[in-house]
Amino acid sequence: MTNLKGKAALVTGSTSGIGLGIARQLAGQGADLMLNGFGDAGYIAELCQSLSNEFGVRVAHNGADMSKPEEIEAMVAATEAAYGRLDVLVNNAGIQHVSPVDAFPVERWDAVIAINLSAVFHGTRAALPGMKARGWGRVINIASVHGLVASVNKSAYVAAKHGVIGLTKVTALELAETNITCNAICPGWVLTPLVQKQIDALAATRDLSVEEAGRELLSEKQPSKSFVTPEQLGELAVFLCSEAAGNMRGAALTMDGGWTAQ
Ligand code: NAD
Repeated sequence: MTNLKGKAALVTGSTSGIGLGIARQLAGQGADLMLNGFGDAGYIAELCQSLSNEFGVRVAHNGADMSKPEEIEAMVAATEAAYGRLDVLVNNAGIQHVSPVDAFPVERWDAVIAINLSAVFHGTRAALPGMKARGWGRVINIASVHGLVASVNKSAYVAAKHGVIGLTKVTALELAETNITCNAICPGWVLTPLVQKQIDALAATRDLSVEEAGRELLSEKQPSKSFVTPEQLGELAVFLCSEAAGNMRGAALTMDGGWTAQ
């Protein structure tokens, strides 16, 4: 059990998928939450209220666009203003675009690098001064198995995620003598809207049902043939916040159903 009561966490891209799963687990340990991500205003207001009711913590939302450095800085400042602190930063927001390198739209390349890689830098640089002043912090970067190995047609995503793992190591080394750690989590396939789009595309191109396409996607890469869940990833993030993980520095932790063990 990791007690995060009295601590505040900012999880980027937490209106959906993995980020929401991680936010729920952190709230379950008592952390006040700043959510971030896109979505219908009514849905987001309801989400904040329901998490607050369920876990008895304060929950707010900041709609910063993670492709815009000044909005990321303002979101970190808004979190510190709301809770008086920011102890746990989970850099999670991410997008995907699938295309061969020579047909990859330049605008999509720039967007993937901005949201999946540069935003991790901007969030971290904005959050560290406060963590250093308070003498404790956790930076958790949601990379991917694609930070360790490649797949075709994912040049921007694979480049960004390899970059996130490099940035994680540098950040961890710079903080090695402090109580602030920085580590990366590398999930395999997780059934979220980001992956559902890829399953739907596979179903359409191969004339498969959505269920068949899901099974096909898993069997190509993930030996467990089952999806990793946001809850499992949330539990790993909670562990990284514990004192037991206090000397894990610059790790790239896979949770990938065996993908990278092959
Ligand atoms: P998702 O599409 O379910 O959620 C993405 C979240 O990011 C949403 O809340 C969305 O609103 C937000 N977002 C997207 N663009 C944004 C922007 N410009 N500004 C602010 N918020 C933005 O995706 P997911 O599958 O939960 O992915 C979360 C992270 O996990 C990503 O970094 C992704 O690369 C990584 N990941 C996912 C998988 C997987 O199989 N789903 C595997 C490995 C790594």
